[in-house]
Amino acid sequence: MAVIKTEKLTYVYGEGTPFRKVAVDNVDLEIEKGDFAGIIGHTGSGKSTLIQHFNGLLKPTSGAVYIDGEKLWDDKAKLRPVRFKVGLVFQYPEYQLFEETVAKDIAFGPKNMGLDKDEIARRVKESAEMVGLSAKALEKSPFELSGGQRRRAAIAGVMAMEPEVLILDEPASGLDPKGREQILGMIKDYHRQKGNTVLLVSHSMEDIAKNVDKILVMNDAKLFCYDETVKVFHRAEELEAMGLAVPQITRVFNRLKAMGIDLGEDVYTVGFG
Ligand code: ADP
Repeated sequence: MAVIKTEKLTYVYGEGTPFRKVAVDNVDLEIEKGDFAGIIGHTGSGKSTLIQHFNGLLKPTSGAVYIDGEKLWDDKAKLRPVRFKVGLVFQYPEYQLFEETVAKDIAFGPKNMGLDKDEIARRVKESAEMVGLSAKALEKSPFELSGGQRRRAAIAGVMAMEPEVLILDEPASGLDPKGREQILGMIKDYHRQKGNTVLLVSHSMEDIAKNVDKILVMNDAKLFCYDETVKVFHRAEELEAMGLAVPQITRVFNRLKAMGIDLGEDVYTVGFG
């Protein structure tokens, strides 16, 4: 069953003003439970507006969003549980750390869910391990950590809520290559271990190609496609026409395929190691 479904989802900023902008236009989409997907599209294509509908932060101008088959916004009281079910990690989430210690910060979400002490402690420990933060780091102030560690602490705070769907907006932005790799590897492990749905907004096609199984492409507020990584990269020319630079390996792959040599569906993961 689709964990996220949209029907003719449309969102307009500044309706009735000279600044009116259709940011999401008539999107019909189904994201299955357990999908690990990248969301790509040029700047301003509507990615951020789209994902904010998935946990009820934005209300559709028209159309509908369903989470686990339940329509959002019919009953406002149901929005709170949805925010626990769909966890959103914004860009530069480390700026939202505020507690005295990293452990307390990670515990903030689970505490707000009303969980008991033992369960909160278990979740803090597990998510800290998931992102590679030591017991010692947990007792530090977030401000004593390095930039990369702070980012990881912030992501652990959302993971600790064990959302059915974890959505991350540019989780690796601003990090050095090693930091990028660590963050993306950790998100990949999270998906593998938990089997939960993970959506990753990224402008790096290399990162997307290396890590995800499916890709959602937004173009000028419209959904261009939502399909398996390999199938999306087969449409390299169309992607490039949208200003999306496809990875080098895509060109090699498509050229070989045209010559009758098919490297198979694993080419991206294998090719990028
Ligand atoms: P992306 O995440 O792909 O960069 P966004 O969803 O942020 O795209 O933006 C989609 C369109 O909506 C862009 O044209 C952007 O300028 C516009 N937009 C985004 N946020 C606002 C806002 N708060 N008010 C007015 N227009 C906005």
